[in-house]
Amino acid sequence: MKDRVAMEAAFQQVGRQFGFSEVEASYYPFKEFKTTWQRIGSEVSFKVTDYLQGAGNDIFQDFAGCLFTRIQRQRREVYTPKVRDFLRSEEFVRMNQEKYLRRSRNLTFSPFGNVYDLEILLNSLRRKGLVENGEGTFLSWTDKPNRFRMGYCSVLMKVVAISSALDRADLPDYVAEYVLYHEMLHLKMGTDSLRSYHDSEFKREERRYPRWREAESWLKKVAQDSVA
Ligand SMILES: [Zn+2]
Repeated sequence: MKDRVAMEAAFQQVGRQFGFSEVEASYYPFKEFKTTWQRIGSEVSFKVTDYLQGAGNDIFQDFAGCLFTRIQRQRREVYTPKVRDFLRSEEFVRMNQEKYLRRSRNLTFSPFGNVYDLEILLNSLRRKGLVENGEGTFLSWTDKPNRFRMGYCSVLMKVVAISSALDRADLPDYVAEYVLYHEMLHLKMGTDSLRSYHDSEFKREERRYPRWREAESWLKKVAQDSVA
């Protein structure tokens, strides 16, 4: 409760600097890291992502500054270095990963599939020198075998999910490993909201995977449901 009061006070203080007379802010349990607001004239009311709970006053202030900049100047928010560092910190993940997982659907919450073990695949990527990061990443298969979205990740929460459509004995292990590599690349390349997800640098990195061509063609077959 104290935390909420501190957060709202920070929003009010920053809001005044931006010329807002009335500012309300409360936490809201969005699944993703997201904040919404309603503005009427110089009054604004925020629903702030509750993943910021416990972040501390300087983060509240910087974060509010980003949002007010966006509201007033009608441009995308760019996080300050302080907010960015906080969002990338181990502390942030420690505070929020579990909460995020409780809100996640369609996960088995385990790296052990029927056929493949994601931890083993990750270690194999490390041995190949393709993954150096990834400490504390939560790995899971999806519950349902999605054929069109083979992998998913939350860069902020360090969660990676691989479609259980790839957890089958008639697919070689490098297909799931390649998708895992793709998601780990997202985690490595970070959270800059201004870059596009699959830009040329990303593609270049992705193709360091030795069997990317074969893996891609297997993925097409899985999507067309024409495996085996
Ligand atoms: Zn991707």
